[in-house]
Amino acid sequence: MSTEASVNFVQAAIEADLAAGRHGGRVATRFPPEPNGYLHIGHAKSIFLNCGLARRFGGTCNLRFDDTNPATEDVRFADAILRDLRWLGFEPDAVLHASDYYETLYLWAEKLVLEGKAYVDESSLEAIRAMRGSVTEPGTPAPGRSRPAEENLRLFRDMRAGKYADGAMVLRAKIDLAHANMKMRDPLLYRIRRAHHWRTGDAWCIYPMYDWAHGQSDAIEGITHSICTLEFENNRELYDWFLATLGADTLGVEVAPRQMEFARLDLTYTVMSKRKLLQLVEGGHVQGWDDPRMSTVAGMRRRGVTPSAIARFAEAVGVARAMSTVEVELLESCLREDLNEVAPRRMVVVDPLEVEILDWAQGAVTYVTADDFPMETAQPATRREVPFTGRVYIERDDFAVDPPKGFKRLVPGGLVRLRWAHVIRCEEVITDAEGRVVKLRARIVTDEDAARGAKGAIHWVSADLGVPVVIEEVGRLFSHPNPGAEEDFLAHLAPNSLVRRSGFAEPAVAQMPLGSHIQMERVAFAFRAPETASEGLVLTTTVALKDGFQKVAPARRVAAAPAVEDPKASAEAQANARAAVRAARRASD
Ligand code: ATP
Ligand code: MG
Repeated sequence: MSTEASVNFVQAAIEADLAAGRHGGRVATRFPPEPNGYLHIGHAKSIFLNCGLARRFGGTCNLRFDDTNPATEDVRFADAILRDLRWLGFEPDAVLHASDYYETLYLWAEKLVLEGKAYVDESSLEAIRAMRGSVTEPGTPAPGRSRPAEENLRLFRDMRAGKYADGAMVLRAKIDLAHANMKMRDPLLYRIRRAHHWRTGDAWCIYPMYDWAHGQSDAIEGITHSICTLEFENNRELYDWFLATLGADTLGVEVAPRQMEFARLDLTYTVMSKRKLLQLVEGGHVQGWDDPRMSTVAGMRRRGVTPSAIARFAEAVGVARAMSTVEVELLESCLREDLNEVAPRRMVVVDPLEVEILDWAQGAVTYVTADDFPMETAQPATRREVPFTGRVYIERDDFAVDPPKGFKRLVPGGLVRLRWAHVIRCEEVITDAEGRVVKLRARIVTDEDAARGAKGAIHWVSADLGVPVVIEEVGRLFSHPNPGAEEDFLAHLAPNSLVRRSGFAEPAVAQMPLGSHIQMERVAFAFRAPETASEGLVLTTTVALKDGFQKVAPARRVAAAPAVEDPKASAEAQANARAAVRAARRASD
């Protein structure tokens, strides 16, 4: 799996620019997060695109913190962003900030003012909005628009010097109040805001707007392709206007950067805006930004998702110009494909029901050999020994007194194969006073012909030698396919989306290094979270083995895992069939 596989329209555009020698054969991109929250999977997609393209064309990709809103930004977010970016596998060529350019941006704004291309407007934001006009009506000029440039310059300098109150005035570009593109109707460049900035402290009381900061920062850094999401499509004209109006000499770049838009990633059963993620954290609806149910990069890491799985997903989603919501099932299937290759199989019983093996010699232990990977994976064929004793645990849901049609697992008097081990017959069902099944007694079926009657194979763990584990079952945080579209997205939080269960695992699980993955056979891919080391053995589920996992209520979830077809039984059946064919041939000779 690589990001090299397909050509998207952004890549095609870069190739065309390279072929035309547009930026002197250079490719320079940037990833520009605002440090007001943690990165989420949408950002990851943007990172794989920006950094991936730079890597592909031997170019550079900067991390640029778009830190122009001091009130909501924080150094702890910036630190988390850098850490997550590195975890995804990208080392930025430079770590920069829009705030590095505050002085330059200010001086360039003075230049526009002096040239009569920007002016100070004392109108309130509401008044500016009202005076902007509509699609059919041109905007109305504010008094400052016709003020002499020198006077605007004095006002702007006084704005910077802190002579006016917050909101008293703004700096606007003087473009066209009748422009068909509303973004071009004298947009704001600066506002007065007395807020402590995490980097510049109290040095500034005016802050640049996104549109003013972004393109100019791109130019300062020598960015060739400024890739952003579709909601900035209408801003492109303004982006180009600022660059063209300042001119190559001022900017110090021969060819201006080029803005290109792609559709932002949206996922079902997920919220993706940082504002909403912040609400989840601050409202205590999750354990933090790195809660394993969160769509943040930190949350996914905590859940055992690997960077390569995210890369695989980003590739599968592709880069489109049209908005669409991607099904979370696609992400889940990418996780499975990725983990399937690296996660050895282990047997873990999540909801144990004890089975006593009749006639088993007291204290006897035998070892069965089990494959770490099924035949079809490319892994070397590693195996481990699993102890079998006179008491085993099976999943409570792998036994049914009153089985539904097609149930292939254990029933009273019926047979089932214990994976890698014996076929057993259920001889006795022991219930408590309420009629709840508390234990089974079973006998090993030694007769091969009789054993062939087992239709399914189930996982198990020796009750004597298995190790206690806590299984942290991570479900979807929301029960609504599109919670973000609802008035109150918090009303659609799923109940019991994070459940802890006490189960038992085969002894090999105790040897799992922190952070490593297993496939809990028939249940889920799981991960030994580093953070949970102190609590003993905690397995966090990364993704269920099958689609539909979440559609079943947590308590019944294991029932959704079908018994695997007994491979021994079917191999034997095939061998028998072949023998029968040979016998028939001989008979007809
Ligand atoms: P949010 O609304 O989640 O806060 P944002 O766009 O305000 O998103 P930024 O920190 O400004 O977040 O984004 C940094 C970069 O990541 C931008 O280039 C932005 O376009 C991109 N990005 C953000 N969200 C997504 C998404 N869902 N899909 C793809 N790219 C995204
Ligand atoms: Mg933003």
